[in-house]
Amino acid sequence: MASAPPLETWEFVGLPQPPSYEEAVGPQCQGPVLTPAYNKDTQYHFPTEYQPTAYSTTSPIVSVQTIYVQPSVMFGNVPVQTHCPTCAQVVITRLEHTCGIMPWLTCAGLFIFGCIYGCCLIPFCLNDLKDVTHRCPNCNNILGKHKRLSF
Ligand SMILES: [Zn+2]
Repeated sequence: MASAPPLETWEFVGLPQPPSYEEAVGPQCQGPVLTPAYNKDTQYHFPTEYQPTAYSTTSPIVSVQTIYVQPSVMFGNVPVQTHCPTCAQVVITRLEHTCGIMPWLTCAGLFIFGCIYGCCLIPFCLNDLKDVTHRCPNCNNILGKHKRLSF
């Protein structure tokens, strides 16, 4: 008796198994890996001069100066109270009389009118005809001058 042909049996041993989900959507299918734009290595650092510690101890101490705003002092024959910019004090000026033009003109006038025996030298002894220099009594700085005649 002829043997019946063997039944065809479908065996799925030769067929490849379908890929699993992890294999199908493997790492190659996850799209480009985005690197984070902000990481610890590129953390922004403030420049040194803008750090708050730069202002703590190295800031210069602002000294407050008292500025004397005074009207223009008229330097005359008498001592005046003024501010000396050199020693920064309010002082009363010390007078210093110097021979300017006025004693010489007075001497010449007296000489012309006949005062030739020493009387023409009297103007050099009069402080009212001399120029006045105002000096600081502390530092001897010249604070102002008063001239009898100025050209
Ligand atoms: Zn002074």
